[in-house]
Amino acid sequence: MGFRATVLTLYPEMFPGHLSYSLAGKAMERGQWSLDSVQIRDFATDKHRTVDDTPAGGGAGMVLKPDVLARAIDSTCENDARPRLLMSPRGKPLTQERVRELATGQGVIIVCGRFEGVDQRVIDARKLEEISIGDYVLSGGEPAALVVLDTIVRILPGVMGNDLSGLHESFEGGLLEHPHYTRPQEWEGREIPAILTSGNHGAIEKWRHEQAVALTKERRPDLLKD
Ligand code: SAH
Repeated sequence: MGFRATVLTLYPEMFPGHLSYSLAGKAMERGQWSLDSVQIRDFATDKHRTVDDTPAGGGAGMVLKPDVLARAIDSTCENDARPRLLMSPRGKPLTQERVRELATGQGVIIVCGRFEGVDQRVIDARKLEEISIGDYVLSGGEPAALVVLDTIVRILPGVMGNDLSGLHESFEGGLLEHPHYTRPQEWEGREIPAILTSGNHGAIEKWRHEQAVALTKERRPDLLKD
């Protein structure tokens, strides 16, 4: 069975979104991965189907109720060993390393927050792993869930046309990737670096590595620390 993703959201119609296109979409059609979205509101019990309430202690906005969210989570993951992720700007920043770990598992359960976020007790009680996609604030977890799933699906075995194309990518080996060129040989007076058309594969590898190191030093010195 393929990689199984379950997304808990107030906007299930946002899924699979862009993941139904291109390589991810084809891989889904082939059954290499699947996505179910669960409407959190279906687990509200009052007649207005309330999912949120005002923050304890006061302040702006609304908070997702723990009882409703917990019922939604429990409906999907009884006897389920898949990691449970909560999209959250307070979470651990997503890394290619964590993506690779997730891609080797059976799947993921992803909770999308909305409003000011979710009640802390459900995070603790259901052991949700908070993951951030960057230091900025989205209006909801759905785009973040699509980002997380995109990063995972593209590295599932057999999904990318050429499985080797992941090898030299940015963050693999702790470096940003070297620059790319393609024909025409000359464009607006700019040439492809001669070494790339030399046919000397050893020299090309060496040049690409040097470029990757230089770029990483200049743009992301933090990556070189480890
Ligand atoms: N009040 C919260 C922000 C809530 S944003 C705070 O200041 O921390 C609403 C929802 O969008 C969040 O619950 C989360 O699910 C999602 N979200 C916002 N920014 C995100 C980010 N950088 N990464 C992942 N999810 C994010």
